[in-house]
Amino acid sequence: MNAPIIKPPQFPSNEFSNRRDQLLQMIGADSIAIVPSALLKIRNRDAEFPFRQESDFLYLTNFNEPDAVAVFVPEREEGEYILFCREKNEKTERWTGRMAGLEGAVETYGADDAFPIEDIDDIVPGLMENRTAVHYSMGADPVFDQQVMSWVSGLRTKIRSGVRAPHEFVSLDLILHDMRLYKSPSEHNFMRHAAKVSIDAHQRAMQRCQDGLYEYQLEAEITHEFRSNGMDAAYTSIVGSGENGCILHYIENNAPLRDGDLVLIDAGSEYQGYASDITRTFPVNGKFSEPQRQLYQIVLDAQAAGIEQAKAGNTWNQPHEAAVKAIVTGLLELGLLSGDLESILEKEKKKEVEQAKQAKEKLSHRHQTPLINEENDIDKELSYKQFYMHKTGHWLGLDVHDVGDYKIDDEWRLLEPGMVMTVEPGLYISPHKDVDKKWWNIGIRIEDDVLITQNGNEVLTQELVKEVDDIERFMQ
Ligand code: CA
Repeated sequence: MNAPIIKPPQFPSNEFSNRRDQLLQMIGADSIAIVPSALLKIRNRDAEFPFRQESDFLYLTNFNEPDAVAVFVPEREEGEYILFCREKNEKTERWTGRMAGLEGAVETYGADDAFPIEDIDDIVPGLMENRTAVHYSMGADPVFDQQVMSWVSGLRTKIRSGVRAPHEFVSLDLILHDMRLYKSPSEHNFMRHAAKVSIDAHQRAMQRCQDGLYEYQLEAEITHEFRSNGMDAAYTSIVGSGENGCILHYIENNAPLRDGDLVLIDAGSEYQGYASDITRTFPVNGKFSEPQRQLYQIVLDAQAAGIEQAKAGNTWNQPHEAAVKAIVTGLLELGLLSGDLESILEKEKKKEVEQAKQAKEKLSHRHQTPLINEENDIDKELSYKQFYMHKTGHWLGLDVHDVGDYKIDDEWRLLEPGMVMTVEPGLYISPHKDVDKKWWNIGIRIEDDVLITQNGNEVLTQELVKEVDDIERFMQ
């Protein structure tokens, strides 16, 4: 038996209070911010899904219970951070587990004040008085949205008695999601830890892999490694062999692994909420066929090109552009596309601009404008988008597709130190009359987690094999 396992990192004691201080300062003394916890969700009948805290709430509070609301009131003398939560109750705790209670909210979680969640309607309107703006993210929970609105409209009815009610709702996302995009050194350590456990999990699946097993048995190896480290999957693991590798979000994971096929595994653990996200593609029998190797090498080169461009000062889209260029170059060499590189890239770019324009028009005029007929286009000529139809990455953090704007004022945002993103090009070749059969049903994606640093980047998932030779040696 192996003892568990790797020593997990901890946050310094001021990590969460620093975040709250930053938020309080940024919303300013005229404002109040309201952040609710996640709700318990029913899985079936009276059984619930495992509880996962809402990421904004977790980021600010580190408080991992449902039925809680954090309220931030800058420069309030009696305390700026108020936590509404469940009161301690021995009987409930016996049935459903321990809770912090009001005392724990203050002692352990640093709230300036804590009140029972049942009292929130009586208390929050008073905290809102004489503040001009309510920072709150609408849309996640319509019931709570209504509750927040009723506090404000209740205050407005008292205007004649001299009360000033907030007259502005501001989406909290603007400030909070930008904060979350710039990770602290401690957050980087958390993400390194999640990455390390995910690397071990992928290695375990690679070593166990052989034909005759089922996809879910590789998933079981992944899950085993996560749980052995006290961690959960950050998202449902994808284990797709053969043609299933061409389905981007395949999660059935129930097909047999066949000699001669590739298997694509997209899986990552989360450590105290922080996600990792890795994809590797490897041969079931441990040896790439020639067509598999050729396509795999294109994706690998595209990923290297993308990672090279993932650095401070470049735009968000530069890694994607570099990866696309490498993919198209490779597909031209193998004869999967015809034409020349520049005009293929140019043509797709034009199409993207046109589609974005039409989408915008559609939004502003609210009438149907005919979109480009892609079906017809595809029939005439193969486009690289038939083989590579997604973007090369996303932000990574407390959410696997993490928050943060990709564009600012309609321009791709610049990458800056502290941000974490994935770089994950792929190729997915579905049967097509103009494609040689030897390429059919090959699906490949290679995905790593990349931290932008002062001088370039750090690939958090670097240790996991991905070169053709290395994979074949590792699987022997
Ligand atoms: Ca992924």
